Amino acid sequence: GERTLAMIKPDGIYGNFTDRIKQVILENGFFIVQELMVQLVVENATLFYSEHSAKSFFPNLVEYMTSGPVLAMVIEKTNGISEWRALIGPTDAGKARVSHPHSIRAMCGSSAQRNCVHGSDSALAAAREILFFFGDISAG
Ligand code: ATP
Repeated sequence: GERTLAMIKPDGIYGNFTDRIKQVILENGFFIVQELMVQLVVENATLFYSEHSAKSFFPNLVEYMTSGPVLAMVIEKTNGISEWRALIGPTDAGKARVSHPHSIRAMCGSSAQRNCVHGSDSALAAAREILFFFGDISAG
């Protein structure tokens, strides 16, 4: 299968959505390879989202991502990267609630920022993000 980085963001953790999100992951045929709950600090969140560093929402994004613990998971399935992106739904949780009512973001997100989950958007991003949280786990 193909591995991707799934993350439950602080609003998902505080809203007690962890078990429901994991249930969706497993019901959709993913294998959870590894998981790690961690409190990001500003330096971590800045690095993780560095591609967005010039955006107006970036300071708020870093504040949000450091507001509490996140749960990072390596999950695996055939076409896992796109399958997980499809399950989480559009970035803006408010819009997701209208256009993708069964998506995870419709279930637990509340805005364009507070969208409760993350998924790598490419193979390159998945490799980088898995390395970010877990180091080189492919070495076994
Ligand atoms: P992620 O990368 O977290 O899976 P995404 O790929 O759907 O989300 P990106 O465009 O990469 O969305 O944005 C990264 C994150 O920045 C979003 O998940 C969201 O938390 C925040 N964000 C994106 N757009 C906005 C916005 N317009 N206002 C506030 N926050 C935003």
